[in-house]
Formats: sequence, structure tokens, C-alpha cells
Amino acid sequence: KAMSGESSTILVTGGSGLVGQAIKYVIDEEQESGSGDGETWIFCGSKDADLRDRAQTEALFNKHKPTHVVHLAAMVGGLFHNMAHNLDFFRENMAINDNVLNASHKHNVRKVVSCLSTCIFPDKITYPIDETMIHNGPPHSSNYGYSYAKRMIDILNRGYSEQHGRTFTSVVPCNVFGPSDNFSLESSHVIPALIRRMDDAMANGAATFAVWGSGKPLRQFIYSRDLARLCVWALRRYHSVEPIILSVDEKDEVTISDVAEAIKKAHGFQGQIVYDTSKADGQYKKTASNSKLRSLYKDFEFTPFDEAMRTTVTWYKQNKGQART
Ligand code: NDP
Repeated sequence: KAMSGESSTILVTGGSGLVGQAIKYVIDEEQESGSGDGETWIFCGSKDADLRDRAQTEALFNKHKPTHVVHLAAMVGGLFHNMAHNLDFFRENMAINDNVLNASHKHNVRKVVSCLSTCIFPDKITYPIDETMIHNGPPHSSNYGYSYAKRMIDILNRGYSEQHGRTFTSVVPCNVFGPSDNFSLESSHVIPALIRRMDDAMANGAATFAVWGSGKPLRQFIYSRDLARLCVWALRRYHSVEPIILSVDEKDEVTISDVAEAIKKAHGFQGQIVYDTSKADGQYKKTASNSKLRSLYKDFEFTPFDEAMRTTVTWYKQNKGQART
């Protein structure tokens, strides 16, 4: 392991969320199998510290004295939530990111891996998207607040590297789904929203199920536990400040309609799926290239989509009624 030899304390902000819980799952698995020596992992949620607040952020770092940080905490939401709250998305995420990276600097953190997103790239762009294009034009107007705040992480990383020699880097996941996602009706992403709504429709004995939009947009989805393995890999093995896209291969891009059909299969829904084209589609596609990842980690095996979907739907059925469902 790149980090072995010295003991390390890894603080995961956003540790209670979709990606944070997936990292916890992967690390627990490693520790049960006896690997991962010398690493202490700490998973924090917003009840441990409100990272919008500088003093609470400082107190969290003073308490845990991390040597490494995986920074996932963010105000996140689906298309409709973003459209209505761009200012809040911008201000809250700017505050969180500035506080976390500045505290990391003050506490001599050896490495920070922060999370950007493929949905922050310019709206008008050539495909496939790659890591060099982040700042090449305005983001889609639906989520400009979230996008600009995320882009500023890359600016902060550059600044901390140039002025202070820090290794603060970022990973750029495509859409994530998996156990522990946010299944709330107001603020969830497309996969958890469809899983939940289809479960409700089945409980009501519905014969049809409406998907918002045309079903035609193309998306890349990464299973949270695959992303977790790649984030841990990035922390241990990826030493550049430049962002790296963590996405499934281009050939594994799917339509929203494919997603709905996979959820239908996982749920065992017998009815018909219909498309409500009065609702917005968002960007038609945002295909990202994972060739940088493939050049550094060519053998990584992604979990098949249907299998990941089955695990996610099963998790939802067993956990609905808990937080964020
Ligand atoms: P979740 O919504 O599942 O989790 C968000 C996490 O951030 C939670 O742990 C939450 O804590 C924490 N958080 C939010 N606000 C604060 C705050 N003010 N102070 C402290 N903690 C806070 O998000 P994901 O796991 O999906 O996302 C993780 C990262 O990945 C984010 O940076 C996101 O932008 C990025 N990303 C996500 C994608 C996706 O499809 N989900 C796609 C690409 C990137 P708590 O729950 O305890 O309140």
C-alpha cells in the first residue's frame, strides 16, 4: 500500500451519505479480511460538525487530527431541487469546501481527495468529456450553483499546491447509485427517485408507472461500492493534483428508459412504464471518458448494472422507513 509504513488517520466528510457509506462498506470488508493495516478511518456526518461553519470544522479537525481526508460532504440534489435552489447550492458548497480545505492545510493533512461531478462540465462541449475541460465554458443553467462551487475545488487544489506544496486532488464521478442513497421525494436523484416511486406504485396496485421526461437522455451510472473502491485507490495511489474522472466505460452508458426497465426487473413490477414528456429532461448526454483511469488502473472490474440495481432495490425494501427514505 502506498500509505503503509506510517500510521494514518483518514477523515471522511460526508461519511454518512451514499458514497461515504459505500467507502465504509469497502473498508469494513478489507479490515475483516485482515488488510488495511495502519489506517484508522473516521466517518463523519453533519451531526458531527456542520462544515458550513468554520469553527465547527476546526473543532472536528482538532478532535481527529487526520493525516488524510476524503472530502465528500456537499449539499447535493436532483435536477428539480437544483433548479429551485442555485444560490443555496453555491453558497453552502463554497463554504463547506473552503472550510475543509483550509482546515486540511492548517492541520498539515498529507492528502485530500475531494469529489467533483461529471455534471459540472460545460454545457456546450465536445464528447467524450475529459478532465481538461472542466473550466472551458458555463455549466448547464439548471445546476450552475452546484457546478461553479464544485469547479472552485479544483481552483483551491491548484492554489494549495502552488502556494503551499499541498497534494489536494479531486475525483470526478459520474452519477452514483447504491445502498444508503437519498430516497426522499423532494431531493433525490433519478435512480433512487424511480426506485421509491415504483415501490409506492406497486403498493397501490398501479397498472402504469410514469417516468418524468422522455426516457431518452443518456447517462453513465457508477455503483457506489465500485466508486468507493476507486476513491480508496485514489487516496492510496493517485498522486497528482489534477482531477481524475471515475466513471464506467463509455460503452456502458444507458438511457433513462434502460434504467427504468432495470428497476422494473429488480422490483418485479408487472405494469407498464409511460413517459411524461411535459417534464424536463436535463442535458441530453454528458458522456465522460474514463481513459485516464483506465491508463492507470486498467483491470478494474465494475459490477454489472443489473446486479448493482438488484442490491440497491433490495436494500431500499429492507430499509425504507429509515432516514432519507
Ligand atoms: P449524500 O447526499 O448521500 O451525502 C451527503 C453527505 O454530506 C452526507 O454525509 C451529509 O451529512 C454531508 N453533509 C451535507 N451537508 C453538510 C454540512 N453542512 N456539514 C457536514 N456534512 C454535510 O451525497 P453523496 O454521497 O451522493 O455524494 C458524495 C459526494 O459525491 C458529494 O460531494 C457529491 O457532490 C459527489 N457526487 C455525487 C454524485 C451522485 O450521483 N450522488 C455524482 C457525482 C458526485 P448528513 O447526511 O449527516 O446530514
